[in-house]
Amino acid sequence: MQNDIDYPLGDFTPNEGEPTELAPGVLWLRFSLPFALDHINLYALDDGDGWVLVDCGVSNAHSQGTWETLLAGPLAGRPVKRIIVTHFHPDHIGSAGWLVERTGADLAMSRLEWEKAQELHSKAESGFSDEVWRFYASTGIASDFVDKLRDLGNIYRPQVSPPPANYQCLSDGDVLQIGGNNWRVITGAGHSPEHVCLLSEEAGLMIGGDMLLPRITPIIGVWEDDPTSDPLADYISFLRRAKDWPDGVLILPSHNRPYHGLHARARYLLAHHDERLGVTLETCAEPSTAHDVMLRLFTRELDAHSVRFAASESLAHIHRLLHAGSLQRSTASNGIHRYAQVGA
Ligand SMILES: [Zn+2]
Repeated sequence: MQNDIDYPLGDFTPNEGEPTELAPGVLWLRFSLPFALDHINLYALDDGDGWVLVDCGVSNAHSQGTWETLLAGPLAGRPVKRIIVTHFHPDHIGSAGWLVERTGADLAMSRLEWEKAQELHSKAESGFSDEVWRFYASTGIASDFVDKLRDLGNIYRPQVSPPPANYQCLSDGDVLQIGGNNWRVITGAGHSPEHVCLLSEEAGLMIGGDMLLPRITPIIGVWEDDPTSDPLADYISFLRRAKDWPDGVLILPSHNRPYHGLHARARYLLAHHDERLGVTLETCAEPSTAHDVMLRLFTRELDAHSVRFAASESLAHIHRLLHAGSLQRSTASNGIHRYAQVGA
């Protein structure tokens, strides 16, 4: 598989608290993250009499300290008017509630992402009901491992400051005027329910969030709250739309570095999932659990946290094939699901 993209700034990445101007009035900010994925890119757009921010970093003292440095330094003198959050994940929305309080800015998100953030934030510490336990157990993961998942508890709330009670709703096709440029809202699902990307043909830029990452593939997972979903179908249809967007735009991703090569990257991501669908189907030549498929798709050592993601991602590939009619599912008396090729 070819991954024909290029990074116009080479290996350069900005230091935390020191934005880099990528285009007139478009600043690239890099914040560190306390995870294996150790950073996130955020963007600040000059809107004349104030700033529009895109994404916020996790909620912790470190990122809030970085925001204070930025507000007192490179962003000083003009207010933050609006904060656009691409999706509900903690590294994107985490400090949004805090920043809204701190700056008085408006929050703008898609409806499904805002609702998801509200729902997850309000869930009790032990949001791991018997139903959730059964969902993970049905994948064939050993039950002591599922117990470990339960012990992780609500991992969302500690990383996200309370989301604001109201927001401005962004929908696919909306056009925002920022800094004299039009930015079209493009939403897509699969990684999250209604992820917002922003395309400005005039500025030659597209803020891709987690949907168009240059080096890693975003997690596409089936989760316990929607156990029969087919998120990979949604992500594939998003990627197929990419050929309608101008190939020359500089993609501003949430992780790694800005790059050129939108069409090539979308083709690569489609081919990547196609290949993994092939492995999934091949594994199910013999009736197999999601855990069996996971062991074929993920060969590295996985801790409890990563097992949850790997199982969800394996299910996403299984469900694509189930929904397409290539696999069928049977359930054993212990509740474990097995998948087999149709007609095998
Ligand atoms: Zn994400």
